[in-house]
Amino acid sequence: MALISPESLERVKQAADIVEVVSAHTDLRRQGARYVGLCPFHEERTPSFSVEPQEKLYHCFGCGVGGDVIKFIEEKEGLGFAEAVEILADRYGVELEREQEDPRAEARRQHRRRLEQLLERAATFYANYLWESEEAAKAREYLAGRGLEEEALRAFGVGYAPSAWDKILVRGQQAGFSVEELRGVGLVQRGRSGGEYDRFRERIMFPIRDRRGRVLGFGGRAMRSDQGAKYVNTAETDFFHKSQMLYGVDLAKAAIAKAGRAVVAEGYTDVLALHQAGIEEAVGVMGTAITDEQVAALSGMVDEVVLALDADSAGQEAMLRAQRVAAGRRMRLRVAAMPAGEDPAEMMAAEGGPERFRALLDGAEELTSFQVGLVLARTDVGSPVERDRALAEVAPVLAGMEEGASREELVRRVAERLDLDPAMVMGRIVAATPASGGMQAPPDSARPAESPQPRRTAELTSRERRERALLAMCIAMPNEGREYLARLTDAHLSPTGLRAAAWLREHPEDPASNLPHDDSELAGLIAELAIMSREEPASHESMELNFLLLDQRRLESEIAAAGERGDYERRAALSRERAALVQRIAHTERPAGTV
Ligand SMILES: [Zn+2]
Repeated sequence: MALISPESLERVKQAADIVEVVSAHTDLRRQGARYVGLCPFHEERTPSFSVEPQEKLYHCFGCGVGGDVIKFIEEKEGLGFAEAVEILADRYGVELEREQEDPRAEARRQHRRRLEQLLERAATFYANYLWESEEAAKAREYLAGRGLEEEALRAFGVGYAPSAWDKILVRGQQAGFSVEELRGVGLVQRGRSGGEYDRFRERIMFPIRDRRGRVLGFGGRAMRSDQGAKYVNTAETDFFHKSQMLYGVDLAKAAIAKAGRAVVAEGYTDVLALHQAGIEEAVGVMGTAITDEQVAALSGMVDEVVLALDADSAGQEAMLRAQRVAAGRRMRLRVAAMPAGEDPAEMMAAEGGPERFRALLDGAEELTSFQVGLVLARTDVGSPVERDRALAEVAPVLAGMEEGASREELVRRVAERLDLDPAMVMGRIVAATPASGGMQAPPDSARPAESPQPRRTAELTSRERRERALLAMCIAMPNEGREYLARLTDAHLSPTGLRAAAWLREHPEDPASNLPHDDSELAGLIAELAIMSREEPASHESMELNFLLLDQRRLESEIAAAGERGDYERRAALSRERAALVQRIAHTERPAGTV
């Protein structure tokens, strides 16, 4: 796959109807030249989400997201740029042309394509082996014994790895793949003596696919108890990262969108059994705790996740992190507490199991309240030391919650059970809340560095609002805009404002028609400015006034810096400059559009 040519990218953008695309996720109504509605990216009661049909841009003045129609698909479907373009091209019937790119990148892509083919062939081999070989009879028996039917097993491509040491090694090479390639995808490994052998032997094989259905790795379940690890997964490779994968997501994604929730189970057979019982919104995390990356992946698909995990044994730390990531992404995490010693696969196989499971889903408790309950239930309240420990454990959980009735309710529960004053419990929560605006924001590690969360409009400083107003006017009035963009220096603008100004200088004509797709923050800001530029009145006077106010801000920081350096002469000169500027500002008329 080579790069999509700029011409066909342009045709996709031309053909795509952003109002139609967005309408699948929220109701839009016309308001003048634009459309408004409730934001599909954050919860709100009054609409602050705007779609600009001519420029094909969206922006939310509440949570700050924004971009073009491709960006919208990327964010809403959790896809990469090229994938989003492909989906739109399919939907609007545009033939994509590719163009030659850097030969090394092309080579890398072809290499990757080969590895994908190799994994797909291995999956087919294992699947056929499960159904056709004598050797796999016990595996077929085991799976049937778990209540799994052939139809579901085939849909998930479940297979069997033979006991021989070199089946995949030999067949892979016969099919033209090198030992390096076989090792690169984790099918073959090197022994201590230096020879190569199959990594998966005598195991039931579960292919692990990405959202688009491509096999990236495998999980293998042992058939004998003396076979070493019960489960062996593909080792981490260049493109298999288990902590990012959701088992069954390719088959679950449509049901997730339809149900408006995802059900998260632990193991491969849980997911299979749930799908077989019609709970097709189920995916697997392949472990007892959900990882931050998995929460992040789900948040791109859905707002509510029900964990059907053994939450008692899942690491407290991991759950706490998951909860924080979910809160930062406005996703609801709930727990369907499984009865002790029963997993979803077992429940599905039992009489009336699916109904019992559905009832558990409907009665699922918020993760926070579940965790607090868990801590309280195992605390010996007769012991002051135990009560202190319990308080120390629940404080960070409560600190991660938004303030409100549910948190207060939990605080009351904790205070009552531990026989403490609610104010004291509150004190501990405040102490557990980092100064930088609480724990709502996910930890930095959970957030890709290149796409920081957009800032809510209400959180902007007056300087940032002023600089955005001025930059939007630079788009609305490009001739004056050029002049002001030349006058604005590093000292006038915030770091984001600086990048936006640089973009506007480089793209004086139609800055929003080709948003940078590798820089989400900048793209969002340019979309916002372009939408503002059509809505806010612009005039030469208001540009001048906004510029002067930014200039005053610049002088003030320079005055402060001179004072700190002890350069009093410079400070006096700057102060005189500021006095003159303040005079000018006072005599400048305040037109509309001045922040
Ligand atoms: Zn929003």
